[in-house]
Amino acid sequence: MNQRPNSLHAADIAYTMHPYTNMRLHEEKGPMIMSHGDGAKVYDTEGKEYYEALAGLWSVAVGFSENRLADVAYEQLKKLPYYHTFAHKSHEPSIRLAEKLVEMTPEGLNKVFFTNSGSEANDTVVKMVWFLNNGLGRPEKKKFLSRNKAYHGITIASGSLTGLPANQKDFDLPAIPVTHLTTPHYWKFAEEGETEEQFTARLLKELEDTILAEGPETIGAFIGEPVMGAGGVMVPPEGYWPGVAEICKKYDILLVADEVINGFGRTGKPFGCERFGFTPDILVTSKQLTSSYMPLAAIVVNDKVYDAIADNTAKLGTFGHGFTGSGHPVACAVGLENLKIIEEKDLMGNAERLEPMFQDGLRKFADHPLVGEVRGVGLIAGVELAKNRDTREAFEPAGSMAAKVVALCAEEGLIVRNVYETVAFCPPLIVTEDDLTEILARFGRALDRALDWAK
Ligand code: PLP
Repeated sequence: MNQRPNSLHAADIAYTMHPYTNMRLHEEKGPMIMSHGDGAKVYDTEGKEYYEALAGLWSVAVGFSENRLADVAYEQLKKLPYYHTFAHKSHEPSIRLAEKLVEMTPEGLNKVFFTNSGSEANDTVVKMVWFLNNGLGRPEKKKFLSRNKAYHGITIASGSLTGLPANQKDFDLPAIPVTHLTTPHYWKFAEEGETEEQFTARLLKELEDTILAEGPETIGAFIGEPVMGAGGVMVPPEGYWPGVAEICKKYDILLVADEVINGFGRTGKPFGCERFGFTPDILVTSKQLTSSYMPLAAIVVNDKVYDAIADNTAKLGTFGHGFTGSGHPVACAVGLENLKIIEEKDLMGNAERLEPMFQDGLRKFADHPLVGEVRGVGLIAGVELAKNRDTREAFEPAGSMAAKVVALCAEEGLIVRNVYETVAFCPPLIVTEDDLTEILARFGRALDRALDWAK
């Protein structure tokens, strides 16, 4: 009989297939194994301390040691560990969390549907849009509009909405009708001599031209992250979102705000759509909804969407969609307590208050020889590295410098994430000024060390 590996490290290599990982490289390199967390920090099994400046996966708003969430989960596990929400069944945690979400999200968003993940939520949105348009007798109104570099998840439909090559190549995606438009990122995609205003106008024209070319009667919805996250933290130019909302309204196209990262204060306002001045028909949240202590996502829709879906369920006899875990009581109880903590500790206000210090602190690196652009709002930011800032020429091979900087950050005790050429920051909302000072210092040291490496 084969001997079982006798270290966690070897067992990980032996038994685990990791998401978003070069598996052959992993066999050589092995895992970084996390042991525990404390506030904005995590510790690996070697005892090394790291500031978690990506909040896990853009998600742990309340930090890594919030006992109130552990207690509430334990109490719910003892009282009603599981029940579903199919066929008129319900339970208090999902009812109270839905009520809370309607209260917190912008005016007009009135009904909530729960899923386990952001990807499932966006798949559900696709099916809702198809279902309601079939119900309204317009079966051709099915296409989605998205953007290059968008991230909406990895399931068949949500992975089709995503606009990143790694999520589509060799997965036979996109598999649903979707058109990807230009990424609203001025520094990267502006044409020679184009002002930001002209750039916005060009993107809005592209949107309207696309709708007219494909036929407004064929387009069901436009989906976008207010600030694009996993594609590299791209902040839209002034006027972009109000313009998109106006065009969608003009052609009766539903507007979906994917706030899986943006939601609950990340951008310095409760929701990204509020920061950028638009109201969606459908708003998708996850991540900071439970601080990722439990898997949960929520879709919040307006009356127009709800009524069209509800009418069709009356016609067909049911909404033939839902997950075993839709509105899971433990996840919802944790979500509710997490939102209470966010409110009681005014963590959304904390993000707004710390924005100048954090964003200005990062912008001090804008003149660093390795940096092309620093961008961000609230407590989310991206530092894009470039060989030549003026021509936007990237380092070769693509993404190698950001990967190096991120590896050096880890040596300095800082976890951040490389997304192509960009180093992404998204610290827990509980961070203090002192935490941010230390995060910026560790990043600065890593950047300087990368400069030596680049020579
Ligand atoms: N939408 C956005 C904006 C995201 O950032 C993510 C995940 O990073 C998703 C959807 C997918 O969520 P999940 O990983 O829970 O499926």
